[in-house]
Amino acid sequence: MLESVKDSSAYLSLKLNKNLSHAYLFYSSDREKNNQVALSFARSLVCENGNSCGVCRACKQFLSSSHPDVFVLERDSVKVDDVKVLIDKLSTKPISAQKKVFVVLNAEVINEIAQNKLLKSLEEPNESAIFVLTTTKTDKLLPTILSRLHKVFVPNFSVADKRAIAAELKAQGVDISGFAEKDFSLTEMLNLATDENFLSTVKQISALFAGLNTTADIPRVVSALDVTDKPLFFSILQEMFIGAINEKENKFDAADLASIKNKFSKKAVSKCLPLIDEGYKKLMSNVNFTYILDNLLFNMLKEKFLCN
Ligand SMILES: [Zn+2]
Repeated sequence: MLESVKDSSAYLSLKLNKNLSHAYLFYSSDREKNNQVALSFARSLVCENGNSCGVCRACKQFLSSSHPDVFVLERDSVKVDDVKVLIDKLSTKPISAQKKVFVVLNAEVINEIAQNKLLKSLEEPNESAIFVLTTTKTDKLLPTILSRLHKVFVPNFSVADKRAIAAELKAQGVDISGFAEKDFSLTEMLNLATDENFLSTVKQISALFAGLNTTADIPRVVSALDVTDKPLFFSILQEMFIGAINEKENKFDAADLASIKNKFSKKAVSKCLPLIDEGYKKLMSNVNFTYILDNLLFNMLKEKFLCN
């Protein structure tokens, strides 16, 4: 008997918010986390309980690589013949799920000819198929492919990473344990910014700190901001400040972090983290964004001078 798929929270939220896309690209600088999130998303698309439950028949089949409608490609290199094999599978209807799910992990290994072949399928969306690609190197994908994909950024700092930083800072008398526990859920990631929104926010934050030298600069740098997603602004601000003290490779370009790193010592950055967390909480309790930023920047400058 064929069973239809129930909506997962991620799936449902996509349908409610922006419709399920026919092709996704999950990207991050953390390959393992990225692939794990993408696979969990792919599984939620076929799960009978709609939430990657791990116990239903579809999930068990998915986990043992035997789901009839799921095709996962994980290779060191992907050539045009590999893509042809995938495309051949597109012509038949799904067997037990609502849609067939094609997963290509580490899509940067798809060579250019194969990418062009794949592009044809992405250009003519198939009603009964969803593509899920992952990469840590978006620059290895053709711009024509990128433009066809709904991009989902997977933040690379895990709760465990944040806890480790929190423990280190606690020893120095700074308590950031509150935000260390905050991590993006899959649904949040899917609804998080498009990468354009993400990148524009990073650039704006970088420019903000480049122009911030004294408290007299605050009104100007704040009014220069054009922020559409305020919670996202705080999340990225937080991640950029963590990036400025974390030696581990992170998703930000060194150039984007330079304006923070050049002005704030590591100690000052760590003192600023709880301030950002406080700002975020105020935003959540509907305090005016400009008012929060004015105060936040004032207090950040204060920490900067106290730490020098
Ligand atoms: Zn399940």
